[in-house]
Amino acid sequence: MYYINGEWHESDRKEQVINPATLKVIDTISVCGAEETKAAIAAAKEAFKTWKKSTGNERSTYLFKAVKLMKERVDELAQIITLENGKPLPDAKREVYSAISYLDWYAEEAKRIYGEVLPASHQDKSLMVIKQPVGVCGAITPWNFPLSMITRKIAPALAAGCTIVLKPALQTPLSAIKVFECFHEAGLPKGVVNLVIGPAEEIGRELTSSTDVRKLTFTGSTFIGKKLVRDSADTMKKVSMELGGHAPYIVFEDADIDLAVEGVMLSKFKNSGQTCISTNRVYAHKSIAKEFAEKLAKRTAELKIGDGLEEGTDVGPLINEKALETMKNQVADAVKHNAEVVSGGKVYNYEKGDGYFFEPTVILNATEDMVIATEETFGPIAPVFTFESEEEVVEKANNTLYGLAAYCYTKNLGRGMRMMRELEFGIIGINDPAPIVIQAPFGGIKESGMGKEGGKFGLEEYLEEKFVSIYEK
Ligand code: ADP
Repeated sequence: MYYINGEWHESDRKEQVINPATLKVIDTISVCGAEETKAAIAAAKEAFKTWKKSTGNERSTYLFKAVKLMKERVDELAQIITLENGKPLPDAKREVYSAISYLDWYAEEAKRIYGEVLPASHQDKSLMVIKQPVGVCGAITPWNFPLSMITRKIAPALAAGCTIVLKPALQTPLSAIKVFECFHEAGLPKGVVNLVIGPAEEIGRELTSSTDVRKLTFTGSTFIGKKLVRDSADTMKKVSMELGGHAPYIVFEDADIDLAVEGVMLSKFKNSGQTCISTNRVYAHKSIAKEFAEKLAKRTAELKIGDGLEEGTDVGPLINEKALETMKNQVADAVKHNAEVVSGGKVYNYEKGDGYFFEPTVILNATEDMVIATEETFGPIAPVFTFESEEEVVEKANNTLYGLAAYCYTKNLGRGMRMMRELEFGIIGINDPAPIVIQAPFGGIKESGMGKEGGKFGLEEYLEEKFVSIYEK
């Protein structure tokens, strides 16, 4: 099913949606391609003519209606996320609430888009800056947060007065269909939101090459993000890119060790490590490394692996076979370089299904020459490196092409402040493994991308500033 100009469509092209925990088919859906994407862009272009003129209050009302509808369907939405993505049901539920919170926040913000009056340099002139919606937006979202990544883009786009064509990941289209059902029932005018589901390259090509699409917003890998930026250059689109990460997690000798251990549990093993802000490299100070690693290995071994629908599951499956291969290769490479696997390290044989399970893993004696030191893991492996000085660890932490999130644990305020300034990442958690809130700017620097999502910052990405100079003679 796909949704263009206010209507649901079916086609002869079909794709199966697979549960990564059991490898059973959950559903078979109609998909579409280039022609339908063109139609969706045309519908969004037509709808923009009136949507851009609507008041913030009007747009807000629609968003609040979608909030209400989603709140009535929390359990149903969470169930679908778990089925197609694999994450434990309580985590899926948290994602639904997070997805709703974006709609809720931007329903408010829609009413608060202000321009500015500038002081003139001539007494007969008036100078103004007005803000207007960018236009038709293309949005491409990933499978790791199949619901919240959609509303994190659509909510600010609609609040700003933009219309949108969304392409979700082919692994997780059912969450997208459900949220679009809510938009449909909320009564959004035809063409304001459109959903195209199908082959990524074919649809991506239409979105990037169209002169009518004025902005492309993407969350996914750095590799694809670079391609999309290149492809968007010919039409000089505005782009927002939320790409990969390689987060360092620094535990200083003055840290609360137990707190730091629990932080890794959250940052590394939630969503099976398939989060772009997941810890990728743990740096433990030499003097506390042994105690820290022992505690971390013990806690990791306690995690319950299984189907996300089963009560008590902490860690669900990975998304696909390729992800499992990455885990196996990273562990094998680390062992080849003399790492010690102190917890996990293998494919997990889940007796109730054939899914893509990998044991939560802790590796000691990690070194810079290992693949895991530079390649994004996107899975449940925590390599522990050691360091001796603050200067040394800052240099090592920054020694990556990525720049999304970084974490540090210390009780020393001055050191925390230095880390805030010195770490070259867009998001810093100081004694905080979960530094993501709706009102804050989420986004990376370096090859982790450009642009922000969340809060007032996220809204700006969908607005253009227009300068007006009036000579009053
Ligand atoms: P991953 O490897 O984790 O799936 P991707 O960056 O490949 O990450 O996927 C994120 C999103 O980008 C998905 O919606 C996917 O379908 C889409 N995508 C992948 N390749 C392309 C492409 N060539 N053009 C447009 N979108 C793409």
